[in-house]
Amino acid sequence: MTHAIVAKQPGGPDVLEYASVEPPVPGPGQLLVKVAAAGVNFIETYQRSGAYKVNYPFTPGAEAAGTVEAVGEGVQDFAIGSRIATAEGAKTYADYTLVDAAKALPVPDGVDDQTAAALPLQGITAHYLMNSSFRVEPGHTVLLHAGAGGVGLLLTQLLKARGARVITTVSSDEKAKLSKLAGADDVLRYDGFADKVRELTDGEGVNVVFDGVGRDTFDDSLKSLRIRGTMVLFGAASGPVPPFDPQRLNSGGSLSVTRPTMAHFLQNARERRWRSTEIFEAAANGTLTVRVGASYPLAEAAQAHRDLEGRLTTGKVLLIP
Ligand code: NDP
Repeated sequence: MTHAIVAKQPGGPDVLEYASVEPPVPGPGQLLVKVAAAGVNFIETYQRSGAYKVNYPFTPGAEAAGTVEAVGEGVQDFAIGSRIATAEGAKTYADYTLVDAAKALPVPDGVDDQTAAALPLQGITAHYLMNSSFRVEPGHTVLLHAGAGGVGLLLTQLLKARGARVITTVSSDEKAKLSKLAGADDVLRYDGFADKVRELTDGEGVNVVFDGVGRDTFDDSLKSLRIRGTMVLFGAASGPVPPFDPQRLNSGGSLSVTRPTMAHFLQNARERRWRSTEIFEAAANGTLTVRVGASYPLAEAAQAHRDLEGRLTTGKVLLIP
């Protein structure tokens, strides 16, 4: 028997139980991967709580890195012993997981297992946000919420490497320090951030806001934009944004709003290779520092969720089987 985290119904972190399960068997085109580390992502808290619908029993997890232990029929690109990672797995909170070979990313030499597990989902997210949801150009000014979070620390570094000016928000002194270290030019608290952003930009506002906080920040994020600025709402850590009047975009300065999700930015092998190669290369050559803020034994997945939802984590959160 092997182990996995299993939720039998939606609810708080306590529904995440450490259970004995049959080892999975790879079907055609699949890899059986021994998980070295599984990435925890905020979406799994929405799935666990019932905010996003899933089927039960539910094993969370889309992200992991590990070693291929068996391959299904027709797999050509990977062999037993290959080191892979994925941002598009399922049931990765487990000792073993199945990964579609088409969605497996080869881990380059020089990238360790923890970094390989920490990077794919939040790294690819940072990549598509700044390249495809809104193309950030050198000289743009960007507002990014939760600057010390998983996406926040990676996106800040990539934006600075692009030559953008980066303003972040955070909730504590420790997080402010980390956001600065990642390269943020100005680090703000959430209280009154729209006015401060105006001051910092000589009244003009920012070109783009990347907002993964949602309900608590949405309105002030719109207020922080310059004329014809773009709001990229990519998450709801504080809760979902209520319906709003599109007229608000007119009065705010002919603003644009988009609400992207990663799957739509990994539509084919070419996109997957482009984004994953760039972020893994950035990690391997030192452009991108990947901060694993906390690692928990797999059996303590519930505590990892409590800490993530309680705003106690920074950078990446991992589960180690
Ligand atoms: P983070 O590590 O950024 O954790 C969330 C952070 O949000 C917290 O640390 C906290 O930082 C901030 N926050 C603000 N208000 C709250 C609140 N009320 N409760 C909890 N946290 C709050 O998580 P991720 O990097 O994994 O994800 C960031 C966001 O990006 C999430 O909304 C997630 O769903 C989204 N996401 C979206 C993707 C997409 O494709 N659309 C893909 C990946 C992530 P602080 O204390 O500094 O405020």
